[in-house]
Amino acid sequence: MAPARRDLVAAHLWAAGACGVWERPAQLVAWFEDGTPIDLPEPHGVPELAVPVRRWSREEDRDWQADWKATIRPVEAGRTVIVPSWLEADHEPAADELTLIVDPGRAFGTGHHATTVLCLELLDELDLAGRLQGRTVADVGCGTGVLAIAAAARGAVATAVDIDPDAVEVTRENAARNGVEVTAIAGGVDQVPAAAEVVVANLITDTVRSLAADLLAASTDELIVSGITVEREHVALDALEAAGAQLLERREGDGWVAVRLRSAPHADAGSGA
Ligand code: SAH
Repeated sequence: MAPARRDLVAAHLWAAGACGVWERPAQLVAWFEDGTPIDLPEPHGVPELAVPVRRWSREEDRDWQADWKATIRPVEAGRTVIVPSWLEADHEPAADELTLIVDPGRAFGTGHHATTVLCLELLDELDLAGRLQGRTVADVGCGTGVLAIAAAARGAVATAVDIDPDAVEVTRENAARNGVEVTAIAGGVDQVPAAAEVVVANLITDTVRSLAADLLAASTDELIVSGITVEREHVALDALEAAGAQLLERREGDGWVAVRLRSAPHADAGSGA
């Protein structure tokens, strides 16, 4: 089912009183409280949909949540491995692994998206190059807080901001669960208290474009940016470079791009511009 249609069907399920909707690759599963009068559209069609809905069925009660949990695997990104809490007890970390416990749920950023993985890999490289320990890092659009938490766990002084107050709450919970300190603040890039040495921002292409100058201003040294699609990479990069950033590294995965940029011109760059 095309994503837009899935969203419509999901919206109908929520409107019909679902208390949860799980989007699986070829199926939408909705949960209803026992006894909820379910007012679903006729089987022959949800008018906004181009194709008829063939069948609504009431399934035998099953532990859907357990089924869903069984599909979630730990995710590796460089030396960082993100493990859901229910697999923590069985997880055996490799010698140099940074294990982060983050559950899928209320916020974006569980490693199940290429952009999060690409950002974690770039942070991991910064750490290997000795440029994370003891430095200030700001995570703009923190979601679950996974990037700020990874930076803090590697010795950075981390701040996280997100315009979604839920994400800020989830970031605080996840930081505590992983035993690291992250200052989480509701708001945008302007809430980053003082320019951080490293800013990491996994947003979307248009947001990157419109915030390019602000992201540059918020970072004194390096900037890691993702959420950029391969097709519209030039849109984000043009804006970042026009704002004065210099591309240092680019990574791609699953049609997404992450870049690492120098945000301040080096004293010896000598352009005089
Ligand atoms: N950092 C996480 C989450 C990325 S999802 C990861 O890498 O997986 C993007 C997040 O950015 C969302 O939580 C969204 O609420 C937030 N966001 C979107 N626009 C923003 C803006 N202008 N300023 C701050 N946060 C923003």
